[in-house]
Amino acid sequence: AKKDGRNGYCFFTPQMQARSVRNLEVENALRQAVARNQLELYYQPQISAVDGKLIGAEALLRWHNPELGFISPAEFIPIAEESGLILSIGEWVLRTALTQLKSWIDRGMSPIIVAVNLSAIQFRHATLPQLVSTILDELQLPPEFLELELTESAAMHDPVAAIDIMNNLHGRGVRMSIDDFGTGYSSLSYLKKFKVYKLKIDQSFVRDISTDPEDKAIVNAVIQMAHSLGLKTIAEGVETESQLDFVRSQLCDEVQGYYFSKPLPAAQFEDFARRDRNM
Ligand code: C2E
Ligand code: CA
Ligand code: CA
Ligand code: CA
Repeated sequence: AKKDGRNGYCFFTPQMQARSVRNLEVENALRQAVARNQLELYYQPQISAVDGKLIGAEALLRWHNPELGFISPAEFIPIAEESGLILSIGEWVLRTALTQLKSWIDRGMSPIIVAVNLSAIQFRHATLPQLVSTILDELQLPPEFLELELTESAAMHDPVAAIDIMNNLHGRGVRMSIDDFGTGYSSLSYLKKFKVYKLKIDQSFVRDISTDPEDKAIVNAVIQMAHSLGLKTIAEGVETESQLDFVRSQLCDEVQGYYFSKPLPAAQFEDFARRDRNM
């Protein structure tokens, strides 16, 4: 038992203790993985709902540790945020995804947009806009090939600050999208002021869309609202033809999910893109 300053004693349950041991283990392994360049990026296709053409790729972190096995970014990103590692990981992701795009273009792939996930900490860090411009300049890539995904809850955490940062990035020609839209209680008056290009409809609304009338209504409302604000929409987590049919019937602009492809290693993504062009 541990003395708690305010109200006596509190206890670590065995589960709590196991969780914090695991966190420390993951943090140490992650630190090593960053130093040894053992993180990887996979790429998931983003597809036009209108003509089925490949529009972009979302870069997603993958980490395989020899002792701990595969660790999901849903587990290690929060640990990277708490430990400060997220800034170096985030910079690595930006640089790696854009270097990959450059090499695809150099090898004849039709240009696509690469979407990179931003942690809230990375988004609020003062050097982000300059870092993005520096990497784009180094690679001589036009800024409109980069899209930065920020979750709705990260954007709404401090919306006034978010407006400034988005204005800065927008001024540099970089696109922004709001990830996991519908889960973060957006205020519409702020949404109007955000310089965003696209709303990503969270997969929790897409999952039961074929059977759940409320999810249908939410997706319909989000798409209508986005379009009336001049924003594009993408549905995430599309796994079945009936989910695809419904979001298309609502005039959703883009789709992403296992129905088209899982996230792929770079070489396999290139094969996917090549097949797409031949269609
Ligand atoms: P997210 O940005 O919302 O990414 C979408 C997640 O859904 C990915 O999980 C993706 O693999 C998964 N997914 C894609 N299509 C389907 C589908 O049809 N069905 C289902 N059930 N899932 C699908 P993943 O790769 O495990 O990433 C989890 C989260 O980790 C991401 O959620 C994102 O928040 C975070 N993350 C991943 N990579 C990065 C990164 O480079 N930087 C930051 N800051 N966060 C990242
Ligand atoms: Ca995302
Ligand atoms: Ca998402
Ligand atoms: Ca998510």
